Amino acid sequence: MAEKRDYYEVLGVDRSATLDDIKKAYRKKAIQYHPDKNPGNKEAEEKFKEAAEAYSVLSDPDKRAKYDKFGHAGVGSQPGPDFSGGFGDLNDILNNLFGGGFGGGFGGFSGFGGFGGGASGQRQKVYRGRDIRVRVKMTLEEIAHGAEKEISIEKLEPCTECGGKGTKNAADIKTCPACNGTGQVKRVMNSFLGQTVSYSTCQQCGGEGKIISNPCRRCGGTGLERHRETVKVKIPAGVENGMQLTIRGGGHAAKNNGVPGDLLVLIEEVEHPELKRDGNNLMYTKIISVVDAMLGAEVEIPCLDGKYKVKVEPGTQSGTMVRLKGRGLPSINGGSTGDLYVKYIVWIPKKLPKEDRELVERLRYSDAFKPDPSKEDRSFFDRLRNMF
Ligand SMILES: [Zn+2]
Ligand SMILES: [Zn+2]
Repeated sequence: MAEKRDYYEVLGVDRSATLDDIKKAYRKKAIQYHPDKNPGNKEAEEKFKEAAEAYSVLSDPDKRAKYDKFGHAGVGSQPGPDFSGGFGDLNDILNNLFGGGFGGGFGGFSGFGGFGGGASGQRQKVYRGRDIRVRVKMTLEEIAHGAEKEISIEKLEPCTECGGKGTKNAADIKTCPACNGTGQVKRVMNSFLGQTVSYSTCQQCGGEGKIISNPCRRCGGTGLERHRETVKVKIPAGVENGMQLTIRGGGHAAKNNGVPGDLLVLIEEVEHPELKRDGNNLMYTKIISVVDAMLGAEVEIPCLDGKYKVKVEPGTQSGTMVRLKGRGLPSINGGSTGDLYVKYIVWIPKKLPKEDRELVERLRYSDAFKPDPSKEDRSFFDRLRNMF
């Protein structure tokens, strides 16, 4: 069998490439060499398999770290992608690459490969702190202008006693004798197939490559301790219910002063007592009296920045909609501000005192009060049709 090519070389990326770079590079290769696009071309098929294998290793922080340390031997026991059921739909591959986001990232840590370094010594496992999730309630008024919210969170910070190292005395940190500081133990097995080498996380040091002989009393050697703190979070105008803001590095601190997790802020919209939201637009139903509808009036409409006086035209039908331009919510991505739609509903009294009743009785025979749709404009008929 031919010598395996270097995975970075296969994807055409640098050893310090980010996960994003790797995804992009694989995407390019997958599109170029997918067997659907190269029917009958054995060479393209091999290249496609090779790229998929390289991607399966380099996209997995753990596997990548092993590969960086030990080359193909480090990931040799990992089965490559299985193509026995076909090569998969190209669209599915691309969707899986970019649809699901980065996933993971919640379980303690992940070792990042490709860490600066250079030639000197071993790569250190870089830990990533866990993310913190919080919910923040926002009223429509706050959403209209954006708000700065104070959130109380409990989070892990580097231990104040040992500075995150897990011990006060650097001499107490020793290289793990079981794995010689690599964090991995090698297992060589002999079978009729020959020798197989596999690597697993060192049990003695938990994969850290180091052992603390005299752990810090305050944090028990974890290097972390809990703090409650209040953070100020700027929520931009125009956010919507269910949106999530990510504050990079706002989460839990990581072991060994690694990369802190993120603070994920979930927006919870508080229902407005009068206004209803529809995207960036607002809806309001205004009930008006028969007299106001007939003679016209001035009514007050609640807007997000106070009351707003609006004229009711004489002869306003029930169900008439008016638009107050720009009285809605701002757009979060810089689009135009929404509008406020007011719908008039004409209120008919159920009971009338005697004098009123006599007054209205007289109107019964007035020609002006006989319904005459022929005098109405098109929008009236459109509305009638849409009522059902
Ligand atoms: Zn060890
Ligand atoms: Zn400590």
